[in-house]
Amino acid sequence: MSDSFDRLHLWHPYTSMLDPLPTFKVKRAYGTTIELDDGTQLIDGMSSWWCAIHGYNHTALNEAIQNQLQQMSHIMFGGLTHDPAIELGKVLLAITPDNLDKIFYADSGSVAVEVALKMAVQYWTAQGQHQKTNFVTTHSGYHGDTWNAMSVCDPVTGMHQVFGSALPIRYFVPAPQSRYGSEWIADDITALETTLATHHQHIAAMIIEPIVQGAGGMRFYHPEYLRQAKKLCEKYQVLMIFDEIATGFGRTGKLFAWEHAGVAPDIMCIGKALTGGYLTLAATLTSDHIAKTISSGEAGVFMHGPTFMANPLACAVALKSTTLLLEQDWQANISRIEQILLSQLSPLADLNGVEDVRVLGAIGVVEMREVVDLKQLQEIFVARGIWVRPFGKLVYVMPPYVISSADLTQLLTVLSEVVRQLSKGEICHC
Ligand code: PMP
Repeated sequence: MSDSFDRLHLWHPYTSMLDPLPTFKVKRAYGTTIELDDGTQLIDGMSSWWCAIHGYNHTALNEAIQNQLQQMSHIMFGGLTHDPAIELGKVLLAITPDNLDKIFYADSGSVAVEVALKMAVQYWTAQGQHQKTNFVTTHSGYHGDTWNAMSVCDPVTGMHQVFGSALPIRYFVPAPQSRYGSEWIADDITALETTLATHHQHIAAMIIEPIVQGAGGMRFYHPEYLRQAKKLCEKYQVLMIFDEIATGFGRTGKLFAWEHAGVAPDIMCIGKALTGGYLTLAATLTSDHIAKTISSGEAGVFMHGPTFMANPLACAVALKSTTLLLEQDWQANISRIEQILLSQLSPLADLNGVEDVRVLGAIGVVEMREVVDLKQLQEIFVARGIWVRPFGKLVYVMPPYVISSADLTQLLTVLSEVVRQLSKGEICHC
């Protein structure tokens, strides 16, 4: 259980320093096993927040970093370049929408989102449209924790209450109600149309997570929303940014989630699984047209350049992780995981305490009717040998793709037992 130095001095994500949630010390991780200091072994259900798709301590990924380390671990990207960035770029352009042609390497998902928002504003100012500086997005979205990323997160479940007027005010429309795999509700797009018709002169871009709204509620929505939203954006001269940071690299059953709708964005953010969970790296991709327009503006350049841009170690492991994924029959594997998630989680939908069960690709979500007690559930899951970290009413998993069917079944058996106990009130929500 919690180390005392850690508890006293180290801030963990979204955690109080007065009463921090307990942390579990990890000695090592390999494959889909997380091994704690006391020898307890946990089956990983989280992929370290969508990242570790090939599992931990992977021989080929370790080798990619070790080989790169012999050359250089880092070199500035201003005025210099290197093979890991170039080779990774070639692979990324080959697997992302055809219209995307330019890559900006960023150091985290949130920064990639900041970069995307800045690109959109610079694109319009370069054309003398200085009033097009705002953004439109949907409720229940999540785009990161930096300032402008926060401003486009859901205004209720996001961080708007805490930061109040410190945050720029964005245009919000309701989250799509048409579920993935269900009927399209034509009215779903009306609010976006009204907002764009009224305010498009002030809107640089729409930003949205395609198909899966992740940390804003784990909602899966209808691809038609993206198709109609893109048409409206074109009609009203508003750029479309897809945040594929969580959905990218196969997680939803397509390599990238935009493919479910067949609609390409003007700007796209990727991150998380890009490096297979090894190092922090993200990227913002855009079209030749947008890049050239930005560059022909008054500024003459795109105004961003992080110190650790295109870090060679991160690029090398990202290249390895991506090629590793592409070389295997990843689609068959995701569909294997999806089938197991469906067969094991679907029966939970009948329980009193369960609001909804949904599965897409390698994502399985059980939405409870009430908020769960994170501390208590975390302890119960660890005691029973699995690593699952719920939030709010959501008990959900997105396991590494290398998880065996036996381990996945074990993970979901434990999860189901706990959900049944929660539903019966044998574990309280307090
Ligand atoms: N966008 C989405 C869709 C995300 O899920 C996340 C991370 N949860 C981010 C952006 C931010 O990424 P990072 O945590 O790497 O800054």
